[in-house]
Amino acid sequence: MSSSPRVAIVGGGPAGSLLAILLARRGVIPTVVERSPPFAVGQAGGRSINLALAARGITALRRAGIDAEVARLMIAMRGRMLHDLGGKQRFLSYGQRATEEIYSVSRAALNALLYDIAANRHGVQYRFGETCVGVDLTDGAPLIAAADGNTRRLDADVVFATDGAGSEVRRALADAGEISASEDLLDHGYKELTIAASQDGGFSLEPHALHIWPRGGFMLIALPNPDRTFTATLFLPHAGEPSFASIGPNEVPAFFRREFADAVPLLPALARDYVSHPTGHLGTVNCKPWSFKDRVLMVGDAAHAIVPFHGQGMNAAFEDCVALDELIGAHGHDWRSVFAAFEATRAPNARAIAEMALENYLEMRDEVRDSKFELRAALSFELERRFPGHWVPRYSMVMFHPEIPYAEAQRRGALQSGILRELTARAASLADVDLARATELVSTVLG
Ligand SMILES: Cc1cc2nc3c(=O)[nH]c(=O)nc-3n(C[C@H](O)[C@H](O)[C@H](O)COP(=O)(O)OP(=O)(O)OC[C@H]3O[C@@H](n4cnc5c(N)ncnc54)[C@H](O)[C@@H]3O)c2cc1C
Repeated sequence: MSSSPRVAIVGGGPAGSLLAILLARRGVIPTVVERSPPFAVGQAGGRSINLALAARGITALRRAGIDAEVARLMIAMRGRMLHDLGGKQRFLSYGQRATEEIYSVSRAALNALLYDIAANRHGVQYRFGETCVGVDLTDGAPLIAAADGNTRRLDADVVFATDGAGSEVRRALADAGEISASEDLLDHGYKELTIAASQDGGFSLEPHALHIWPRGGFMLIALPNPDRTFTATLFLPHAGEPSFASIGPNEVPAFFRREFADAVPLLPALARDYVSHPTGHLGTVNCKPWSFKDRVLMVGDAAHAIVPFHGQGMNAAFEDCVALDELIGAHGHDWRSVFAAFEATRAPNARAIAEMALENYLEMRDEVRDSKFELRAALSFELERRFPGHWVPRYSMVMFHPEIPYAEAQRRGALQSGILRELTARAASLADVDLARATELVSTVLG
């Protein structure tokens, strides 16, 4: 490979730091510009306090040689625990093998660990408290506002923009007409609340599950934290009834008593959290192309932020880092080839997971309540047992099978969904399903 290029990474979040580690392992030591103050273990969360990490993300961490360290931060979640209006709980397993689980991990702790490994093990330089405020259109150099208030160019041969869903790099390039970019905002937002530990210091709900209170047009979810609390997230429309506009501080206690009665005793700071925590916006970022002048490449949320309902945004951003690392291995510092191949392989997959994430919102907040949903899920597991390697439930393909690209999971998932619907149309239980017809459909439709 030619002499080491000067590499700048804008944004030291999960994608920026993992990419920094992977580059450093190739002998390319980047500089990371991060607008936040230095990350420290134990700092308060940013946009969301914990995240679900799944096989795609873990595979990427393994490639960087740091999966065992991250494993110490993880709490396994083996399925969904559904809470009905009466407070009755029902567990739906995510998979059918012991390894088919996803993991709750603190965003702040993960960011701090990745930074620590990049900076202290690999010598990556972080420039904290510095903000990218634009791009020099002559050569793509990021314009950086330092803590002293001055703005300077950051000279680099190549720039990776990992500055997240609200990417300043993307905005600057789109404003200049160099790329086209849009954000499709969801008409639902979110607010984070805290479920306290129990009085004896334990978890107040089953810790190895992702809890969901599905209510049709809206939902509450909760993921476990190592300190025995849960971070609960309320997803609600911005307008209409009920919505963040219609549920103010006065209405929130009655709304929760009506919709999430069993959660109310677990949310001692509900009224305070509801008022003081911001209402977050959710959206899907579309952007084309992902690069500029063979100098700047957008990676992770900066290129393709998605709604969080499949728990895959960070996993997809980590997969991007692996794809980039592989392409640098294949093409060296021929950035034109690296960037072109990166976008060609990743863009169709980013589109697929964006669409599946939107579909999953409907599934989580509504369809899981339907007995046919449970029957189809059970049948899908049964078909996976009968046709191993041939039939994999779509959720499993996305969450547990990193070797299946998102676009392929979406394609096969659509075919399987048609089969499941046909086989369960007149069935009330698994015993009613025509398994001979199932065999026929699997071989003719899935090939
Ligand atoms: C409510 C919610 C729940 C989610 N749950 C999950 C989940 O369960 N599983 C999952 O996989 N994903 C989840 N996601 C998605 C996940 O948060 C993102 O996909 C992931 O954080 C993307 O990583 P990133 O490094 O690309 O961007 P980010 O995490 O946004 O990191 C960007 C970094 O750049 C810095 N930065 C931003 N602008 C500038 C600037 N101008 N100059 C310098 N630095 C800058 C930021 O401070 C930040 O450190 C969720 C998202 C939300 C909103």
